[in-house]
Amino acid sequence: MAFVGLGANLGEPQRQVQQAFRELDAIAHTRVVRTSSLYRSEPLGFADQPRFVNAVAQVETGLPAGRLLAELQAVEARHGRSRSFANAPRTLDLDLLIFGNERIAAQDLVVPHPRMHERAFVLRPLLEIAPGLETYRPFLEACAGQKVERIG
Ligand code: ADP
Ligand code: MG
Repeated sequence: MAFVGLGANLGEPQRQVQQAFRELDAIAHTRVVRTSSLYRSEPLGFADQPRFVNAVAQVETGLPAGRLLAELQAVEARHGRSRSFANAPRTLDLDLLIFGNERIAAQDLVVPHPRMHERAFVLRPLLEIAPGLETYRPFLEACAGQKVERIG
């Protein structure tokens, strides 16, 4: 069981995220078992850009983590994502947040995602759909200053 974080702030962000849910479900050996509500968040880091739409999907997959990441990057690429700089605006960002109980520290893949603990836009949707992850709640409470609103 894995959790994927979705974010978009260019084009039609809500549509990109909804479409990405379907594309995650279409990945081989993978199905989406639960999706969070959509949330709107203020950009972190580089502030001079549109607000984000964020969500989290719970997926069941037979793929190893590295293969799943490659599939996520293929979905990003289809959405016209171009990598410019960290925290830059993007049509679609897919992050592998959690992959079962695995801890991975490879050059191109770190799981659990190293910055999820400090991001309300990840933790709020995650806790909405994953009651088993209540251990993350104190991290969400520590993000109290970050603006994240549920938009449906
Ligand atoms: P960010 O999402 O932090 O703004 P990017 O999406 O551009 O930045 O970063 C993608 C890079 O992060 C990729 O090269 C990927 O290999 C690496 N990466 C490491 N761990 C993860 C993970 N858990 N999920 C997604 N990408 C990851
Ligand atoms: Mg990313």
